[in-house]
Order: sequence, then C-alpha cells, then structure tokens
Amino acid sequence: MQKKLNSFLREIEKRNSHEPEFMQAVKEVAEDLIPYIIKQDIYHGKNILMRMCEPERVLMFRVNWVDDNGEIRVNRGYRIEMNSAIGPYKGGLRFHPSVNLSILKFLAFEQVFKNSLTTLPMGGGKGGSDFDPKNKSDSEVMRFCQSFMTELFRHIGPNTDIPAGDIGVGGREIGYMFGQYKRLKNEFTGVLTGKGVSWGGSLIRPEATGYGTVYFAEDMLNYEGNSLKGKTVTISGAGNVAQYAAEKCLHLGAKVLTMSDSNGFIFDKDGINEDKLKHIMFLKNVKRSRIYEYLKKYPNASYVKDKKPWSIKCDVALPCATQNELDHFDAKNLISNGCYCVAEGANMPCTIKAISEFKQNKILYAPGKASNAGGVAVSGLEMAQNSLRYSWSREEVDEKLKQIMINIHRSCLEFGKEKDYINYGKGANISSFIKVADAMLAQGVV
Ligand code: NDP
Repeated sequence: MQKKLNSFLREIEKRNSHEPEFMQAVKEVAEDLIPYIIKQDIYHGKNILMRMCEPERVLMFRVNWVDDNGEIRVNRGYRIEMNSAIGPYKGGLRFHPSVNLSILKFLAFEQVFKNSLTTLPMGGGKGGSDFDPKNKSDSEVMRFCQSFMTELFRHIGPNTDIPAGDIGVGGREIGYMFGQYKRLKNEFTGVLTGKGVSWGGSLIRPEATGYGTVYFAEDMLNYEGNSLKGKTVTISGAGNVAQYAAEKCLHLGAKVLTMSDSNGFIFDKDGINEDKLKHIMFLKNVKRSRIYEYLKKYPNASYVKDKKPWSIKCDVALPCATQNELDHFDAKNLISNGCYCVAEGANMPCTIKAISEFKQNKILYAPGKASNAGGVAVSGLEMAQNSLRYSWSREEVDEKLKQIMINIHRSCLEFGKEKDYINYGKGANISSFIKVADAMLAQGVV
C-alpha cells in the first residue's frame, strides 16, 4: 500500500515539481484514496486518480488595463478547468498578488471533490489573477474586471464553466465582470454566481459559505451530543466567509472572540456581538479598511499585530482566511488550550501536520471540502434558479443549505467512521471520489 502511494506521489511530483500547494492537496487526498481504490476491483487498471490530478484544460492569459494615472498595467489571468465528469466546471475566481498556478490548481482539485459532496451536478474549476484589488479605486477595479472578462468570456458559459467569487472577488467584482460578459455576448445568462439579488443572484449566497461552515460544526457537535450554544469560538479572517461564520455563531448562541486580516488579529474578551460585527462589516465592506480600526470604537479589545488568533483559548476554532494559516504549532496550542472542534471555512487552511495533530488527539476536524461546501452549494441553487427563471425565498434557500450540510455530514460518516474516531477527512475524500470516478468510468477514456 505504502509503495503504491509513494510511487503515485513520485509520478505527480515529477509533473508538478514547482507546485507545493497542489502537491499538498493531492497528498492529503491520495493518502485516503489509494488504500480505498486498491480494494475496489472496478477501478483497477483505470488510472482514475492520476486522471483526476491532471486538469482537463489550463488557460493562462494577459490582462492589460490602465490605472488612474494613465499607466498601463499588466497582470496574468488564469482559469483551471479541472474536471467536468459530473457537470460544467464550477468554482471561484481569486484576485490576490499571491495567485499562481500551484494555488489555483490546488483550489480547482479540491473543488472537484467539494462539488461532488454537495450532490449537485457541478464539475470543478478555479481561476483568478495576481491583481491586487487593495488600494485600487472603483474605476481601476472596474477596468481590470472588464479586461479580465474580455479574454475569459470565450472560455466560459452557463453550460460550460460558471465562475464565482473567492478572495478579493465579491459582489462588486462579480457585477463588473457580469456586465462585461453581457456586453460581449449580448446575452443575459447565469454565467457567474454571486450576482446581486435584483439581477439573478440568490438570496443567502453571500452568507452561504460562513453559515454552512457553522452548520457543519454544529452537526459534528450535535452528533457527539453537544452544541455551539455557550461555546467560545476563535475565527480568522474578516472577509466574506469569516463575517457570516461569526454571524451564524451568534445566532446559535456562541461567543466569538477573534477576527483577523493579513496584518493581525483582534481579541475581544467580551465577545464580538451583533453590533460589533456590523461595525466590522462596515470597516471591511464599505470603508475597505483594516481590522485594527475596530479598536477605535471598541478600545477594550486588543490587537495583536502580525499574528494569527490560534493562541487564544477557545472551544471551537474556525480558520476562514487562507491556505496554510494554521500549522502544527498552532494546532498544538489550540489543543493544549482545550479546543475540541475545528471546522475549515477557508480552503486548506490547516497544514498536513496540523491535521495529523488533530487526528492523533481525536479533535473533531472538518476539512474545507466538506465544511465550506455551502457556498458552492448555494451557487448551484443560483444556477438552478437562473435556469428556471425563478427565485426562492430566503427561508427556502437557508433550509436547502442546512439540509445539504446535513447530507454532507452524513456522507462523511458513511466512509469516515473508525474504531474510536470519526475521520471526516477520509469520509469526505472517499464519498466525493466515488461519484466523480464512477461518472468518469461511464464516460470512457476522454
Ligand atoms: P475575502 O477576500 O472576502 O476575505 C479574505 C480574508 O482572509 C481577509 O480578511 C484577508 O485579509 C484574509 N487573508 C487573505 N489572505 C491572507 C493571508 N495570506 N494571510 C492572512 N490573512 C489573509 O475572501 P473569502 O472570505 O471569500 O475567502 C476566505 C477563504 O474561504 C479562502 O480560502 C477561500 O478560498 C475560501 N472559500 C470562500 C468561499 C466563498 O464563497 N467566498 C467558498 C469556499 C471557500 P486581508 O484583507 O488583509 O487580505
């Protein structure tokens, strides 16, 4: 078994040697899947996992745009069309200076498994650019988005590839890209999700990833006869996912102690209540400023520069910022401070060593592909509403989201139960793999 795993990883490494994040994502999945595949005759001789590790298509393009000083700027745009076995490519666009092929391939690879877990008919993709929307004017962001879409539009479509938001891409950016797509194609279609509600967006889409992450944490706790009520929670990030994870924690009676951005974190020992959270939303979404400004209004809180919130004692931790933001020292810190539940709102926020600390210490741990799947699930519902030219109420979408998270939890249990531990990672990897692999087998060698 170990030999097969090693030789598989060597082969992947040979082709992707300069892509550490992609290698990390593949290793995490292969460690669960290779032992499973070996025992299943139907997959023998089909090289199915190797096929899943190779994107169906990688697009890379130049994005020129003019800044407010009249200077011509050049960025790089990408779209990874990873796997379309169970539906059109679906996954977000990330605008961040760190964006490169390795990061987008890891995100696209994870997306294939995540989308399968939602049970909706969506393949996996991801894209973005090394463009940094921070400190850019609205007009600059608009010109960049229009230029980006002027190239991307020929590769996407409501039945081909349907991008959405991710880091640095929220309602504003989706609006500018949708406008440009509509202008170029002369078509009003559901080609992007995360749209405004008055022009084809779904209610609850902005909230869905954060809400879904907390629903999943609650499902894990409920399964152990526990709940979030009265628990202390540390959250990283202050963006879309973190804000709505915090909001749902408050709805369920938990106390939120921290939020962060890439400069540091705030710790409010009295708890970030609904009013304080509204202020954070204003700071981040309207003022587009930094989290330390929270202290101007709430001076009793503290701000820790250049650090992450994992040193703060809590019952539940929700990493909602970015990949590899929680390493094994952080994991040890959380465990020794009594944390017993970790649900990933971000994609791959915990390193492989951090995950193994959680497993060794029997901590409830939910991988992002399961716990943050609520966002793409509601994107899938947005696609369905666009096709039907119909819209569901807030309550209807929230109910569907809750049920999807319960179903994902159930799928994880089906394949993740071990003697004295529920290995949610393994459960998520195997159950999502089966659906995609079986579709690939049925469709032949394509
Ligand atoms: P946003 O851009 O809205 O917010 C990102 C937050 O993370 C910001 O607070 C940002 O701080 C912080 N952050 C970003 N990069 C870093 C870094 N290198 N170190 C520390 N903090 C950082 O993005 P989202 O909330 O949408 O996405 C957060 C995570 O959730 C990502 O991993 C994304 O892939 C994942 N995700 C998002 C989904 C969605 O629906 N939006 C769906 C599923 C997963 P700063 O402002 O300083 O950059």
